[in-house]
Amino acid sequence: MATIIREIDEAKSERGLQRRKAGEGFGAPLLHCCCICHTVAPWGNGWSTYCSENDIDNSVAIPKFCSRLCVEKGGPEARNVTEVMREAARALEWREPKIVYRERELTEREKWQDAVRRQSLKHPRS
Ligand SMILES: [Zn+2]
Repeated sequence: MATIIREIDEAKSERGLQRRKAGEGFGAPLLHCCCICHTVAPWGNGWSTYCSENDIDNSVAIPKFCSRLCVEKGGPEARNVTEVMREAARALEWREPKIVYRERELTEREKWQDAVRRQSLKHPRS
C-alpha cells in the first residue's frame, strides 16, 4: 500500500525568505505599503494615492496612504513624500504566498511511526 501525503512545497509557496516581491508573484493580490507608516496590506477602504496616469504607466513608485491620518502627514499633493520614501515603501511590497502542495510517499520511518500510532489507538493505555 503506497501512502501518499501532501506537504507544503516551501520553495514554490514563497514562504519566509522565499517570498517574492511585487510583480513576481503567482497572481496573488499585491500587498501595498503605506509611504508614511509602512503598513503592508491589500488595497482597501481608507487607502489612497496621489499620482498621474503617466506615473502608473511608467511604473513610478507612487505615494500610497493607508488612512486619512497618513494622507494628512503626506501633505498637500503628497509633497512631504519624497522619492526615497516612495521607493522604500515599494520595496516592502510583496504578494501573498500561494500555498503549493507536493505529494510524496511516506518514508520508512514515517510508516513505522504511523503503525505505532495505529497500534496505540487500538490498545489505549488509559
Ligand atoms: Zn499609513
